[in-house]
Amino acid sequence: MDEKEKIKAILDRDSRYDGVFWYGVKSTGIVCKPSCSAKIPLLKNIELFDWVEDAIKSGYRPCKICMKVMKEKNTIKIKRYESPCGVLMLGSFGDKLCLCDWQVEKHRDHVDRRLKRILRAEFEEGTSEVIGKAERQLDEFFAGQRREFDMPLLFVGTDFQKTVWNELLKIPFGQTISYGEMARRIGMPKAVRAVASANGANSMSIFAPCHRVIGSDRSLTGYGGGLDAKRMLLELEGVL
Ligand SMILES: [Zn+2]
Repeated sequence: MDEKEKIKAILDRDSRYDGVFWYGVKSTGIVCKPSCSAKIPLLKNIELFDWVEDAIKSGYRPCKICMKVMKEKNTIKIKRYESPCGVLMLGSFGDKLCLCDWQVEKHRDHVDRRLKRILRAEFEEGTSEVIGKAERQLDEFFAGQRREFDMPLLFVGTDFQKTVWNELLKIPFGQTISYGEMARRIGMPKAVRAVASANGANSMSIFAPCHRVIGSDRSLTGYGGGLDAKRMLLELEGVL
């Protein structure tokens, strides 16, 4: 079909052309189906696409009015990452990392159910841009070439858990603190046990470095990836 026909379909809001082509609106940066009920843009602002993916690659965002149904079903992409300390499950939701958790984690099922329930999503094996970025940063970390991470993280948990997990992000590479210190830092000095439990529920290992929290007697206490993994991580950071 030629451009004229496509323009006519847009002007007619002709749903028979939905899926046949898409149009971007240069002035708003939105991509629409031909039948979109939004105000029809000036012709000079229309850019035609045969594939919606091409429009999105060019920087257009899916229209909230007509592309709702097209918006990807909620999925959490998951991929295994083999680290020197054990296997991690990486998960991404949209453009954020929502999971980096040890395969051996005994709360694995629990964490998975929590993610699916709160994000109303299903797991799907695969990869994503953000998983690729996480893999690269983990590679660098384990190779001793990276001390800080720069990742868009999505913490999935209760408000209290998120407070604790955000606090983890502030513990620098190569340093450790105790659970008691952590409780003081979030302004709840008496909540040591709750802090320890939120720490144990952290499903963003390495990126939210719960391995840097140890007992006040400097014992390693516990770790989702096992004590050997915790020991290796702290050795890598020069703490042990
Ligand atoms: Zn639209």
